[in-house]
Amino acid sequence: MPRFIDLSVTVDSNTMSPPSTNLKVEVTPHRRGPGFWQVSSVRQSLHTGAHIDSPLHVFKDGITTAEISLEQVTGEALVVDLSFVEANHRITIEDLKRGGGDRVRKGDIVLLRTDWTDKMYGKWPDYFTQSPFFPPESAEWLVAKGPKSIGFDFFEEYCARLPDFSSEDFPMHRVILGAGIVIMEGLTNLGALPAPSTPRSTRSRARKGRPPASSPRSRGGVYDACTPPDRLPPEPHARSVEH
Ligand SMILES: [Zn+2]
Repeated sequence: MPRFIDLSVTVDSNTMSPPSTNLKVEVTPHRRGPGFWQVSSVRQSLHTGAHIDSPLHVFKDGITTAEISLEQVTGEALVVDLSFVEANHRITIEDLKRGGGDRVRKGDIVLLRTDWTDKMYGKWPDYFTQSPFFPPESAEWLVAKGPKSIGFDFFEEYCARLPDFSSEDFPMHRVILGAGIVIMEGLTNLGALPAPSTPRSTRSRARKGRPPASSPRSRGGVYDACTPPDRLPPEPHARSVEH
C-alpha cells in the first residue's frame, strides 16, 4: 500500500492571501430552516494555500490552469534540500548545488525545501515579507535542467512582498512559466518525503547552460524593474529558521 504524504497547507478563515491582494479567506455559511440546512461560500484569492500557477499568471496569452495536463504535475519528484537557509535568504546556484540540485533530470518534478512554510505559515505578514527568495538567475539554472514542474515551500518571488510591485516585477515567474514549467506554491511538510536512496546518472545534465527560449534576459530590461537585493539584513523581529 503506497504511503500518502500531504504537502498542502490548511486553508481556513485565518488564512491570508499574498500581499498582492491581501485578502483574508472569508467562509460564509448560508442556512435555511426550519431544520438544519447549510451551504457555504468562499471569498479568497486563488493564489492562497497550496496551488499551481499557470502561464496566464504573468503572460497575457498564457494557458490557463485548466489547460495544464495532469502528467505535468504527477510523476517522479526530487527534493532539493535548502533547509539550511534563513529568513530573507537569496537562494543562489551554489545553494541549489549544495542541496542536491545537480541531480535534477529532464522531466522531474523538483521540490525546493526550506521548511519556511512549516515554521512560518500563519504568521502574517512575516510569512510573505521575510521569506527566503529565489532570484531569476537561480531559476534559469534550474530550468536549464528541464524539470516539468517546480514546487516551493516558501514565498519565492522577492518583489511580490513589496506593496508597490508592478506587472514587470515577476522575473522568476517569467523564467519558469515562460519555459512551460508549472509552478507549485504553498507547499509544506517536504521534510517528510524520503531522501533520495541511490545516486543518479549524470548523463541528463547535457541541457545545462542553455537558457530557456523565453528568458526575460532575451527581452532586455525586465530585471530593471525590481531587482532582488543580494542580501537583506534580517528585520529585528524576523524569526530565523532554527535547526
Ligand atoms: Zn501563485
